[in-house]
Amino acid sequence: MTLQRMELKATLLEPLAIRANRQSTRSEGLTRIPGSTILGALASAYLQWGGHPRDREFQILFQDESHCRWGALRTGIYQPPATSASCKRFPGLSISQQAAPGGIFPAPGSSTTEPHGLHDLLVAELRAVKSPDFTSAALLCQKCGEPLQPYRSPLAISGTENNSPKFSRRPDPPLRTRHHVGIDRNSGTAAEGILFAEETLDCWLKTDSPDPRAYEAACLTGVMEISEPALEALKKLLDLLDSRIEVGSSRSRGLGRLSLDLGRTFPATTDRRLDDFSAALTARIPDTARIFTLAFPEGAIFVDDLLRFTNDPAAAIPWLPCLPRDFGANSFENGITALHGNAGLRRIRGWQAAHGLPKNDDLAIEPGSLFAYEVTGEEWPKVKRKLLDLTSRGAGLRRNEGFGRVQLSDPFHLEFAFPRSSGDDPPATASARKHPPSKPRRKKKKKRRKRR
Ligand SMILES: [Zn+2]
Repeated sequence: MTLQRMELKATLLEPLAIRANRQSTRSEGLTRIPGSTILGALASAYLQWGGHPRDREFQILFQDESHCRWGALRTGIYQPPATSASCKRFPGLSISQQAAPGGIFPAPGSSTTEPHGLHDLLVAELRAVKSPDFTSAALLCQKCGEPLQPYRSPLAISGTENNSPKFSRRPDPPLRTRHHVGIDRNSGTAAEGILFAEETLDCWLKTDSPDPRAYEAACLTGVMEISEPALEALKKLLDLLDSRIEVGSSRSRGLGRLSLDLGRTFPATTDRRLDDFSAALTARIPDTARIFTLAFPEGAIFVDDLLRFTNDPAAAIPWLPCLPRDFGANSFENGITALHGNAGLRRIRGWQAAHGLPKNDDLAIEPGSLFAYEVTGEEWPKVKRKLLDLTSRGAGLRRNEGFGRVQLSDPFHLEFAFPRSSGDDPPATASARKHPPSKPRRKKKKKRRKRR
């Protein structure tokens, strides 16, 4: 079954309280809505309107991973890969990298606060793997010489230019802390010594307009994968609900109402795009045959044969080679070599409203985790077929909550590649010579993560 990728947009009508943890008295708030929260809110609304869990519509929308997979909603639809980095002092898209409308612009005359630009270090990482004498002194901001740091904030896509998306950065709606007292069950009044604090996401956002009173409704967007019959069922359900649903906690206190709408459809990855990406990347990295990358924009949950959590996609995708445990070692399987992996693990907590019980804690790789592999020329056609099949299926566990969505050979790596081309490595600055490159430290960090 082919699923199409669609944009899902939530316009906040009320502030939103989504807890990062299960503690009710003191819990941090999230600035995104997890896929499982949207799924749960819609499923509960479906049942409230007289639906039954055995209905075919309910099954394909909320229970069948091969028909519908929900994604998390964030301030931007695009999650930059783990190799993206930006200046330590002035992070973010530079003005020349931004799409014209919708981005954050510095006030006229304040060029000192202009972000120094976004870069992608995949090319530099792969060149370091292929030729060990490649110096990473080049991994410094070209405008101020400060080190580059990982950049993880989601970006908005404001349009396309020459078939590649143009990005902009929307500000996150502010998080505010609200307090409320506990209620004594016997007297119905405030209970002594019980005070709850919760972080809520504001539903209004200051715009870039010079008018100090200009605000707009906060909007969160994400990607969902859906089949034709499930899309029909979803449209029917949203019509019935007038697109209004309630998510998160404290819904009885006037929080959590939002309007949910379907947006544009995204084109599927093609055979041709894999070829173009591989050709462009191998031209810049010596001695490589074909290259593809796997990114997991929503994160993914992988378990090995003994049900231990791991950050190696080979646990869920049997035809991939395992990532090498020691730096310098190569693992080769089915004509594929693992070149690079960048994936930290984080704990996923949740509450199962239908059972009234906490969900099991899972360890997922972080959104944007990235893996790069090299393939021999003879195996390439076979591997391409497997890759296209993988994008339509996803990988790992809890796929209907968005985990395990695959982004293949993302053109972002080429468009934001740093250094821009093999010949223009910037000279090492004085500070770079004083603090020699961080290559060994970076490798150590990665190894530690793997062992965990
Ligand atoms: Zn800089």
